[in-house]
Amino acid sequence: MRYHYESIIVGSGIAGLTCAIYLKKAGVDVVVLTKNQIPQESNTYYAQGGIVAACPDDTEEKLEHDVLLAGCDYNRLEAVKMFVREAPQLVIDFLINEAGVEFSRNSSGGIDYTGEAAHQIRRIAHFEDHTGDRIITDLLSYAETLGIKLVTGYTAIDLITNNHHSSDTQEMYKPREVLGLYALNNSTGDVDAFFSGTVVIATGGIGNIYQYTTNPVSATGDGISMAHRAGANIINAEFVQFHPTSLFHRDIKRFLISESLRGEGARIKDHNGVEFMKDYSPFKDLAPRDIASRAIFDRMSKTGCEYMFLDLAGNYKGPIPIEERFSNTYKTCLKGGIDITKEPIPVVPAEHYFCGGIKADLDGSTSLSNLYAIGEASCTGFHGANRLASTSLLEGLLWGKKAAEAISANRKSPDVKRTGRIPDWQDPARTEEIDPILVDQDMRALQTTMWNYAGIIRTQKGLKRAMADLNYFSYRILKFYHQAKLNTRIIELRNASVCSNLIVDAAIRNSRSIGCHYIQKKMG
Ligand SMILES: Cc1cc2nc3c(=O)[nH]c(=O)nc-3n(C[C@H](O)[C@H](O)[C@H](O)COP(=O)(O)OP(=O)(O)OC[C@H]3O[C@@H](n4cnc5c(N)ncnc54)[C@H](O)[C@@H]3O)c2cc1C
Repeated sequence: MRYHYESIIVGSGIAGLTCAIYLKKAGVDVVVLTKNQIPQESNTYYAQGGIVAACPDDTEEKLEHDVLLAGCDYNRLEAVKMFVREAPQLVIDFLINEAGVEFSRNSSGGIDYTGEAAHQIRRIAHFEDHTGDRIITDLLSYAETLGIKLVTGYTAIDLITNNHHSSDTQEMYKPREVLGLYALNNSTGDVDAFFSGTVVIATGGIGNIYQYTTNPVSATGDGISMAHRAGANIINAEFVQFHPTSLFHRDIKRFLISESLRGEGARIKDHNGVEFMKDYSPFKDLAPRDIASRAIFDRMSKTGCEYMFLDLAGNYKGPIPIEERFSNTYKTCLKGGIDITKEPIPVVPAEHYFCGGIKADLDGSTSLSNLYAIGEASCTGFHGANRLASTSLLEGLLWGKKAAEAISANRKSPDVKRTGRIPDWQDPARTEEIDPILVDQDMRALQTTMWNYAGIIRTQKGLKRAMADLNYFSYRILKFYHQAKLNTRIIELRNASVCSNLIVDAAIRNSRSIGCHYIQKKMG
């Protein structure tokens, strides 16, 4: 099938949905694709702690200070200034007043602002400890009332460009333009062509290329990999943020223990009950997450333990009972036999957020004509070398709006004469069903390589070994890909392999430890 829209958005997280809502309100013919059958499934859904929001005690200067401190002054200043000026108020004007998103309230009915590590004031709006779930559910309902077309179960494979795909030879010599994308219909196995005036990549992060991550399995860097193949610039790929505290449990995987527990008094301890963060940072338990991750990782290595503890029970001073304030964490841990109101929580660090991505300008535009990138898949330079907690949902919100404004100010429909020269997707002459065990095994090998050599503490030797291994994997994976009957897992494996290469390559080139990129010199 061949479809035509003014704008296609890939991804139904906070960035994609916000962009779609603003585009729809401007009268643009927009469609949102998501590879998941359930549109909520995204990193956004799993966000717990909250979102920075306008609050009476805050100022642009204070927020800018905290963002730059976390980002090690590696940030793009114009992006930071635009963010502190415009983004926090969007939570009130757009999320609460327009889209009807609910946030937890204090006893006088105002927003219950909470604190988090590296924030000098309590400026974070939250809904209990499952803020992302609340935001995405309410945004989806709002999108539905506006009549936004949302297509689930479609996996974008590759961007279509005039240079790469047109049967008109002359198009090869023109400046490169994105004309749409090919996407797999997950249930039929057919590949359809979607043409559009603009494509917006809002595909989220890369967590699942690491052995331990807080991200859902679908976070495989698809949009970044697609954009890279089409020739877009990717920047800051060495900056992968690890969260210090994910639940260590035999049966419960990928569960984040939010930083807001530390904001509410929880302390990191070793197996002897020693609070060791004072040895690693003057901020102690409120140290930025890269320092806390390395501290836990270091303590685990020195003591030979597989995990450390986060103790909320003995230190919580908040007015709302733990069971209510951290309802999701409480229920999830209880299912695993841990009562967080009475005992410390076993924790390990895990990959959490990708600060790099598709280089995007203040309006989300990229180095490729007609291509926009927003949210975690993009790199606006806002986060610099490390992300300040609770700013990524808001970055998705702001850039979703900015990209929509830019697209609607310069509306484009696909040129059917040109798209008519783009062939349908060509399957390889001989396709074979690939044994899923082979795909899983390759994914696991890639994840372990990234965890061991391109993880929390890196060395030059380790990174070079990773590159050698990844080169071999990508050769094998590409061979697979060219013979396979396509399915989502194979597409994801290929994308994971591309993103891993981008990260390791960037990490090798940057010999300076900064932010969340940490190179240990003496072992390298
Ligand atoms: C456990 C956890 C807790 C977090 N807590 C916070 C927090 O408290 N505050 C905060 O600010 N941030 C938090 N974050 C980070 C934040 O949630 C993400 O950075 C943000 O939600 C990213 O939004 P997004 O719209 O860019 O991408 P996502 O929400 O990840 O959405 C990506 C979308 O793209 C779709 N997609 C991907 N590939 C394809 C493809 N090939 N074809 C079609 N569709 C595709 C996915 O299905 C999904 O719909 C947390 C993240 C996690 C994992």
